[in-house]
Amino acid sequence: MSDPSRPARIVILGGGFAGIAVARRLEARLRPEEAEIVLISRENFSLFTPMLPEVSSGALDVRHVVTPIRSQLRRTRFVLADARALDVDAKCIEYRHILSGDVESLAYDQVVLALGSSTSTFGLPGIAERVFALKTLEDAGILRNRLVWLLELADASEDSAERERLLTIVVVGGGFTGVEAVGELVELFRSVLHFYPHVDASALRIVLVEGGPALLPGLPAKMGRYSAERLRKRGVEIVVGDGVAGADDDGLVLQSGRRIETKTIVWSAGVAPSPTIAAAKLPRTKRGAVVVDRTLRVEGVPGAWALGDCASIPDGAGGTYPPTAQHAIREGPLLADNIVATLRGAPLEPFAFRSLGMMASLGAREAVAQLPGDRVLTGFPAWFLWRSYYLLRLPGLDRRLRVAFDWTLELLFPRDIAELRIYTRRAQSSAAGDAGLAARDETTARP
Ligand SMILES: Cc1cc2nc3c(=O)[nH]c(=O)nc-3n(C[C@H](O)[C@H](O)[C@H](O)COP(=O)(O)OP(=O)(O)OC[C@H]3O[C@@H](n4cnc5c(N)ncnc54)[C@H](O)[C@@H]3O)c2cc1C
Repeated sequence: MSDPSRPARIVILGGGFAGIAVARRLEARLRPEEAEIVLISRENFSLFTPMLPEVSSGALDVRHVVTPIRSQLRRTRFVLADARALDVDAKCIEYRHILSGDVESLAYDQVVLALGSSTSTFGLPGIAERVFALKTLEDAGILRNRLVWLLELADASEDSAERERLLTIVVVGGGFTGVEAVGELVELFRSVLHFYPHVDASALRIVLVEGGPALLPGLPAKMGRYSAERLRKRGVEIVVGDGVAGADDDGLVLQSGRRIETKTIVWSAGVAPSPTIAAAKLPRTKRGAVVVDRTLRVEGVPGAWALGDCASIPDGAGGTYPPTAQHAIREGPLLADNIVATLRGAPLEPFAFRSLGMMASLGAREAVAQLPGDRVLTGFPAWFLWRSYYLLRLPGLDRRLRVAFDWTLELLFPRDIAELRIYTRRAQSSAAGDAGLAARDETTARP
C-alpha cells in the first residue's frame, strides 16, 4: 500500500512517443507534492521514426530526427537505464544503468509500460543474422553505411557475378516502412551514382518483396496500386504474393522457391511487442503484447498500465488499436489522466480514437495519403502534406529547423557518401588506432 503522507511514485518505462506523452501530461496535471515522476529509458533521446528511412538514405542527418528526453520534460526524473525485471507483487522495478552497468531497483506505486516493439524475423532460417533492420537510429546509420560500402565494393570489383549481388538490394515488407525505404534507396543511388565511374546505373537492382497480394496492406487498395506503379516507373522490381522462406550469405529464398542473389536484405516485414521484462507476471497476447482494458490498466495487476506498441488495447469493436505513433501519442495523455483519477479517487475514462489515416512518402516528391473517410491523396500534394505534417509533429523547434535545412540542402547537393566509422567495435577500434590512441576495449566502445 502506498503511504498517503508521501507523494506517489509513478515510474514510466520507455521514452518513446508513448512514454513521453504520459510524462508530459502527468507533469501538467500533478503537483510535485502529489507525485514523483520517474522515466527510465535506454536511450537519452526519443526517436522520430517516420523520418528514419530518410536517415538511412542520407537525406537527413542522424541527430536531427532525435530529441533529447531531458529537453522534453520539466520535473520528471530521467534515468538512463535498461529496465530488466518487474516484480508486480512487490511493486518493484530492477534496472541496469547504461553507462556504469550498476543494477538498482526502485519501488513504485504506479508503473507505466511504454517499451515499444522490436524487429521480428519470425524465426525464419538465416534471416535474423543477415538482414538490416530499420527500427532504431543505429539501424538507419548502419544501413546508410552499408549502402555506401557496397557501392565502394562494386566500383572496385572485377567479378561480374559478385558485382551483380552487391548491386542488388532486397527490401522485405511492403508496408509503409518498406515502401518508404525503397523510395529513399532509389533517390540515394540517383543522387550519388556519378561518384562511382565503374558502377553502371542499369546494373542496380532494387527489389521490394511483399508476402500479401498488394503493397500497403490494410490501407485503401488505390494507395498500394499507385505506390507500385510509381516505384516500378523508377526502376524498382516489385514482387507481391510471395513470402520469404530464408536467406544465406549470397541471397534470399522466397516461399515459391524463387531465389534472389543479393548481399543486402533490408527487413521491414514485422515488429513484435518488446520482449523486455517478458518474465514479469503480466497477461500477454500470443504475440507478447501486454493486455490492458479500455482504460489502459493492465488486467488483474494493480498499479500497472501499458500503452503504445507493447500493449494490446481493445478498440471497443472487437479488435485492437494498431501499433502506430499516431495512436501512442493519444493514448499517453488518456493514460496519464487515468492515473491522476486513480490517485484522486475519480472514475476512469476509456481510450477512444479514430485513426486520422496513414501516409507513405515514395521519394522524388511523391507520396500516398489516406485521409479521413478513406479518401486517398497521391503525388505531389500528398508528399507536401507528408512533409508539412511530420515537420510540425517533430518535437522541438530546433529539430524542425535542422530537418527543414537538411531538406533544403538536399535540393542543391548530392547526398553524403562519407562512411561513418562509428557503428561497430572494430570500426571504433581502427579509428582509435588511426588517431594514435590505444584500441578501445569493451568498456569504452559501444557494442
Ligand atoms: C521506420 C518506421 C517508420 C514509422 N512511421 C510511422 C508513421 O509514419 N506514422 C505512425 O503513426 N507510426 C509510424 N511508425 C510506428 C511508430 O514508430 C510506433 O508505433 C511508435 O514508435 C510506438 O511508440 P512507443 O512509445 O510505444 O514505442 P517506441 O517509440 O519504440 O518507444 C519505446 C521506448 O522504450 C525504450 N526501451 C525499450 N526497451 C527498454 C528497456 N528494456 N529499458 C528501457 N527502455 C527501453 C526504447 O529505447 C524507446 O525509447 C513507424 C515505425 C518505424 C520503425
